Amino acid sequence: MRLELEPQLDFSDVLILPKRSILESRKDVDITRTFTFRHTGKTWTGTPIIASNMLTGTFSMAHALSKYNMMTALHKHYPLEDLIEFFKHSDSNVLNNTWYSMGIVDKDFNKLYEVYERSGQKIEKILCEVANGYTNKYVESIKRLRVNFPESIIMAGNVVTGEMAAELILAGADCVRAGIGGGQMCLTRKIAGVGRPQLSTVIDTADAVHGLKGLLCSDGGCSQPADVNIALCANADFVMLGSMFSGTDECAGSVEEIDGKMYKKFYGMSSNSAMEDFYGGRDSYKASEGRTTLIPCRGSAALIAEELCGAIRSMCTYVGAEKLKEASKRATLIKVSNRLNQSYEKYTVGN
Ligand code: 5GP
Repeated sequence: MRLELEPQLDFSDVLILPKRSILESRKDVDITRTFTFRHTGKTWTGTPIIASNMLTGTFSMAHALSKYNMMTALHKHYPLEDLIEFFKHSDSNVLNNTWYSMGIVDKDFNKLYEVYERSGQKIEKILCEVANGYTNKYVESIKRLRVNFPESIIMAGNVVTGEMAAELILAGADCVRAGIGGGQMCLTRKIAGVGRPQLSTVIDTADAVHGLKGLLCSDGGCSQPADVNIALCANADFVMLGSMFSGTDECAGSVEEIDGKMYKKFYGMSSNSAMEDFYGGRDSYKASEGRTTLIPCRGSAALIAEELCGAIRSMCTYVGAEKLKEASKRATLIKVSNRLNQSYEKYTVGN
């Protein structure tokens, strides 16, 4: 056993210091980024927010967010025929902002081949993800994907340490998805005792992948726009959000009325609810590592997207960054006792 005593930080442990600025208005801030992907040389420009491949990863989310040049990672459970129709008929802006998601078993590879062949579309962005990105089998799967889909942009994860993030880039990923245990629907820290606070995860993994010309997607643990801003200041290229897009019209899930208020069911993709809905039950050797909850219905994801755009503009103005790209260079994060305890009311996006 080894014990590390280096402090590990979460988004809630810091605030961003304001800095002298010559910007006159928030309107002047460019909140888009342009990235070139390491293995394909392809580029993407947009506001680097991605709706997670949870129940938030729907076709309608992809349509809604693409209007803001934000991305959506489709969930893995769409039937083959629906995926083929989506990739065949969606316009180029929607496709440019969509990640196809898959796991690592042969069935996942076969499904991808079929969507590729039958939609007539090169699937340009592929998120190949597992809960634990540290296994040999997973690294081999990324190599296999890179060899078989040389023109696709690959995002791989999840990991929380620099050396494993670097290994995934070298295995063929263009972007690494970092975060274990920080998701709001996640129980991994409670069940397995495994994880790492998300801010330290982002700082460490971003440094590792950027040295190799890879990109970093911070995944999980953002419960308010400030967390997104802190992730961006900490050098995350993309920020993936599940819970923050839950309860929207575009999020999948059943709706129920309680005391005259409408709620939408939302759950982690390793929860008992997900196992029941997608696999007909949980394997007895696995523990459920996800929660199930009800989220008040809160209208279109467009409202959240607009609020996020406003929040990123505000942060950039405070740190004097004319372009989002400059924010991480200008930002100073200061450690505070706990930012979340300092707010008088719990913040809900869209309110
Ligand atoms: P959130 O934005 O909700 O805080 O976190 C979203 C991320 O949580 C997802 O992108 C995914 O990586 C992770 N996640 C989703 N469902 C589960 C689950 O059931 N268990 C665990 N451990 N993580 C989950």
